Amino acid sequence: MNLSTPIEEIPRIGPAYQKKLKKLGIKTVGDLLYHFPHRYEDFSNLVPVSEAKLGEIISIQGKILEIESTRTWKKRMILTQALVQDNSGAIKVIWFNQPYLINVLKSGDSVSLSGKVASRKGDIYLSSPAYEKISDFGFQISNLSHTARLVPVYPETEGLSSRWLRFITRPLLTKLKKEIQESLPEKIRLKYQLLPVQKAIWQIHFPDSLKLAKAAQERFAFENLFLIELLVLKERQKLQREKAKIIPLNLELVKDFVKKLPFKLTDSQKKSAWQILKDLEKPRPMNRLLEGDVGSGKTVVAAMASLNVIKTGYRVAFMAPTEILAKQHFKTISNLLKDFNLKIGLLTGKEKIKKDADILIGTHALIQDKIKFKNLALVIVDEQHRFGVEQRAKLVQNRAFIPHLLSMTATPIPRTLALTIYGDLDLSLITELPRGRKKIITKVVPPEKRRLAYDFIRKQVKSGRQVFVICPRIEPAENQTTTSWAEVKAVKEEYEKLSKKIFPDLRVGMLHGKMKTEEKEKIMKDFKNPEGKPSASYGASKKIDILVSTSVVEVGIDIPNATVMMIEGAERFGLSQLHQFRGRVGRSEYQSFCFLFTDSPAKKTQKRLRALLDSESGFELAERDLEIRGPGEIFGSRQWGIPDLAMNSLKDIFLVEKTRNAAKEILEEDSELKKYPLLKEKLEEFQQRIHLE
Ligand code: ADP
Ligand code: MG
Repeated sequence: MNLSTPIEEIPRIGPAYQKKLKKLGIKTVGDLLYHFPHRYEDFSNLVPVSEAKLGEIISIQGKILEIESTRTWKKRMILTQALVQDNSGAIKVIWFNQPYLINVLKSGDSVSLSGKVASRKGDIYLSSPAYEKISDFGFQISNLSHTARLVPVYPETEGLSSRWLRFITRPLLTKLKKEIQESLPEKIRLKYQLLPVQKAIWQIHFPDSLKLAKAAQERFAFENLFLIELLVLKERQKLQREKAKIIPLNLELVKDFVKKLPFKLTDSQKKSAWQILKDLEKPRPMNRLLEGDVGSGKTVVAAMASLNVIKTGYRVAFMAPTEILAKQHFKTISNLLKDFNLKIGLLTGKEKIKKDADILIGTHALIQDKIKFKNLALVIVDEQHRFGVEQRAKLVQNRAFIPHLLSMTATPIPRTLALTIYGDLDLSLITELPRGRKKIITKVVPPEKRRLAYDFIRKQVKSGRQVFVICPRIEPAENQTTTSWAEVKAVKEEYEKLSKKIFPDLRVGMLHGKMKTEEKEKIMKDFKNPEGKPSASYGASKKIDILVSTSVVEVGIDIPNATVMMIEGAERFGLSQLHQFRGRVGRSEYQSFCFLFTDSPAKKTQKRLRALLDSESGFELAERDLEIRGPGEIFGSRQWGIPDLAMNSLKDIFLVEKTRNAAKEILEEDSELKKYPLLKEKLEEFQQRIHLE
């Protein structure tokens, strides 16, 4: 048996357990050993039974004098009661509803027990303790797995108890520890004072102290982040070896473009545009992420770059995540560039306008369509962060040149992520909103104020404005922990309620992710006010006043006449996401509002939501979110395929910086990792497992 032995060949694991393990992604012995506990139960307080104190968590060791099982007739519960004696005296032990115990523990057995001291009718007893049998002599605490020490607790999965995992993992660890090889370069390990791998893997499962457990966790977190850094830095190197078209900066043209704009660019728009235009002058492909809050004006910056590319004689492809957004961009870009005599095309699943355009805007149909662009020099991608070298290469006829990439996102990227997951991208930030925008008034609305909020909304609609209502989701999403007090309102229910009971006099529409594209588009059209007169008096042209929707409106939709964003079950969203929703309003001269509805009385929730009242910066909120909820909860622990431990470390800027420096040091010395074959192997394996899109 070795680390790559499949779990099917481990003697004590039957088919049912094999299935459960596979659900966790555990396929080999190695996977099992790298399935780490997420916390420890501290059972190290070993005392003589005579010193058992009510309310304390203790461990005792002694002999079972008697054990019996009874059924309480009232509560239909099975009680297993025992008397356990050591040198200092005897104590009663009661297990509730564990009927099999009577077949496992017999009188005369020596046991080690860990649990809480409780009392009943004045008598103290040890309540449902963890247990394991010990031999009478020659046993050591360090040989125990479940009691009298720091005991590993693994992330719970149905039917896979921590006890079972300890039972399986421990003997494998003992047997195979020696086979786990150190893949970290020794000088890195020493420089950053990391535990050697064999010690670390033992200590992370069965630590001698919390300090050692922490050191072990740190080592593995370091290792994983280090691998991520190596990957993204290598990706950077790879891109540096590719060629791209040189786009000389045409300053006259840029000035002309800026002059023709109906507004003044913000400083960060100018700075970002400059960074992009400078990148385009280089013979290496740009790999840049333009990050800015919703409404910060990224499209203008993209248009400016496109203009430069096109006037140099090359073409641009612009990809949006949905058809609706592709069309919206098509309109915006057409408008921004209308004075420059360009061919602007649109390509979606259904529509094809000028496929041979200078700038072709579309959905992912652009790539799926197997179009090969002649002279494509720039690819712009909206709301998809990464677009790999090979993806880019597929778009061009001549592989000798790779198009430059400008990726745009309204998702704020905390610094730690910019340095890891997105570490291969250069970052341009738009940190300010265009001047003159009114601050959106944000309020947390408790249940008793709901009526008032509805009245307010009616007034807004009567004065010609429109309203978004966001519901958490249609069906509970996988992996989403449902909290019992939270009343999740399905869009349909909310729609029924609002259209029939609350606002029967207003026109309510519905939009959700499961609708067909055509249906969605029709709804969006109705909501967009076809007359294009935002101030049209009530009852005039628009067909929908209130749009009840799932989070599909989150990205990009531009409805300037909408002034109220009302979010149901607000506590179920992250701060960043709420901020994105809020950005759907406040896009006109009208004062806008964001109402966060929550039925959760929890202080923590209230506090978290209040952060939105204090801050208007998506970036700040993202950092806050990361701090409060942790990356695992925000991005989903399975996202990117990064192990939990490393996922959690993604909020640790110090660790991130250390691993980045370490990776740079190693790559500078040996970019092909020839001196570090084990590291190279590990990196290749890691690359197979993760997907950083
Ligand atoms: P996003 O960053 O969300 O993609 P857009 O590019 O769609 O933002 O811009 C949002 C709106 O703001 C558009 O109507 C755009 O014309 C306008 N806008 C962009 N830049 C400025 C500016 N500097 N001053 C005023 N309005 C601007
Ligand atoms: Mg946009």
